[in-house]
Amino acid sequence: MVRKSKADYRKKPALMALALGMVAGATTAHASDLVLTNGRIYTAAGGQWAQAIAITGGTIEKVGSNVEVLKTKTAATRVVDLKGKMVVPGFTDDHTHIWFGSLALDGFNFSTENEEITPEKNRAVFIARIKAYAKAHPAYAVLIGRADFGRGTGAKWDLPAADKAILDEASPDRPLVVHNTSEHALWVNSKALALAGIGDKPLPDPVEEKYVVRDAAGHPTGVLNEAAQEVMERALPPMPIEEKDRILRVGLHYMNSFGITSAAILTGGLDDLKAFDALRKRGELTVRVRQGFAAVAVNHHLTPAFLADLETARATWHDDWISANLVKFFMDGYPTAPLYTPEQYTTIIAELDKRGFSVTSHALTPAGAKMALDGYQAVEQANGPRDRRFRVEHGDSLYAADLPRFARLGVVVSSQPAFCCGGADSEAVEVPGNPWNSLLKSGAKLVFSSDWPCSWPPSPLAGIQQAVERRQYNIDNASGSRDGLPNDGHPEEAVTAEQALLAYTRTAAWANGTEGKLGTLEAGKLADLVVLSRDILAIPADQIGKTNVEATVVGGRVVYGQLP
Ligand SMILES: [Zn+2]
Repeated sequence: MVRKSKADYRKKPALMALALGMVAGATTAHASDLVLTNGRIYTAAGGQWAQAIAITGGTIEKVGSNVEVLKTKTAATRVVDLKGKMVVPGFTDDHTHIWFGSLALDGFNFSTENEEITPEKNRAVFIARIKAYAKAHPAYAVLIGRADFGRGTGAKWDLPAADKAILDEASPDRPLVVHNTSEHALWVNSKALALAGIGDKPLPDPVEEKYVVRDAAGHPTGVLNEAAQEVMERALPPMPIEEKDRILRVGLHYMNSFGITSAAILTGGLDDLKAFDALRKRGELTVRVRQGFAAVAVNHHLTPAFLADLETARATWHDDWISANLVKFFMDGYPTAPLYTPEQYTTIIAELDKRGFSVTSHALTPAGAKMALDGYQAVEQANGPRDRRFRVEHGDSLYAADLPRFARLGVVVSSQPAFCCGGADSEAVEVPGNPWNSLLKSGAKLVFSSDWPCSWPPSPLAGIQQAVERRQYNIDNASGSRDGLPNDGHPEEAVTAEQALLAYTRTAAWANGTEGKLGTLEAGKLADLVVLSRDILAIPADQIGKTNVEATVVGGRVVYGQLP
């Protein structure tokens, strides 16, 4: 938050220097609000380290040695001795679903770093915990939570579809909606099915109907996969913006507690932007957000209404706090065959590209990643060169011939360390899953993220540890694995802690087109930074995830923890 007096100073640097020189006998050009000294400050700018950093309003004034930076000090400056603590640029979580994550914090959450309660393994506990939640929230018209459950997709690692009888027992009188940890399925009770109008008769939309799981007699089981989730989402009573903001605020603070200061959001649209805008107007937005337009596994169509929404979003929100110029496509689901034909996909992204929008594409399969790369290449050929920053989300599984195309076409790989290594669904075809090191060596831009709430918690430090170790991370058992698989057998695809840190900072800013203002700690950039308890580039890799975030600063304001 820039205070008015300081903002005025910044408009008149020459006058200000004169005034300071006269008052304090200093030769500096600016006065700072906050100076952090005696730190191990990793600037991420060309691998340079600094001792001290000065912040004025929401901006970094100076970075350098204690002596240099203390020249900005006046009587009004707060000076904080970091006592050797590490400072890094604020983390960007480049693939999130903040609304779903916030809903999970407000609702019940049965899949965290500390516990895993599933209907298959703990039926009685599962039901008892929902009943307790319902009792504690008598005013909620709909009960919402998050858990892992069988989706009945037929994939080799998936369980038969969970039965809604379990949810009917847990909540006989109120609609109950359980989000799958993947966010590629909902599991709902009979009350919720009735609310959504899902019965024994097939739904009018064949795509939505295809993903309603039904038993042999044609009755819905309560599991709604992929695009069928939208039928339920549309039926939920609209939430007042104040209520939505109350829930979001908790989610944003939770992200701040892990050092996250910026995020790309890869589902949602105009309603989410309005909610973030309302938070910002009250000074309560504590994560900078870039909203991508998408609903899970729902195909885009270039309808006038959709294009109007995109134009409205981009015209309204394009500053340091909220931006909206990104459209996300689902090349495949989890797991499903391609959702577009190459021709459909290329036609739509070519038109969006002409209009100046940026595009990213979810691709879990090698075929999905190939279709995205082919589409991007065709758009570049058809529409001519432009600074596009196309992206592929996940891209964990690639054909060998496609690996070098990311660097060649300038396409960002947006990968999640939490999904790597030992998971039952990683299907390495021609190259190892998550070929991070090979991608970096090829010159590709690699960014890391949590996909929160699809992984829990959204900890960049845990992500960095996992990227270095290529081993499933669990806070309770950092050297072990949830699946009992110690690692994926491809240590050659690990990255260094510094490479992983850059994937959460400098490269992530580039991926969002904010490299002029974010991603490194340099004079003139926005003052987003994290104070850590230890130097994560100097400690053993298995300690990185347990490093404490002591303070998170966004725009010069401490939004989590406290400075030493
Ligand atoms: Zn996602």
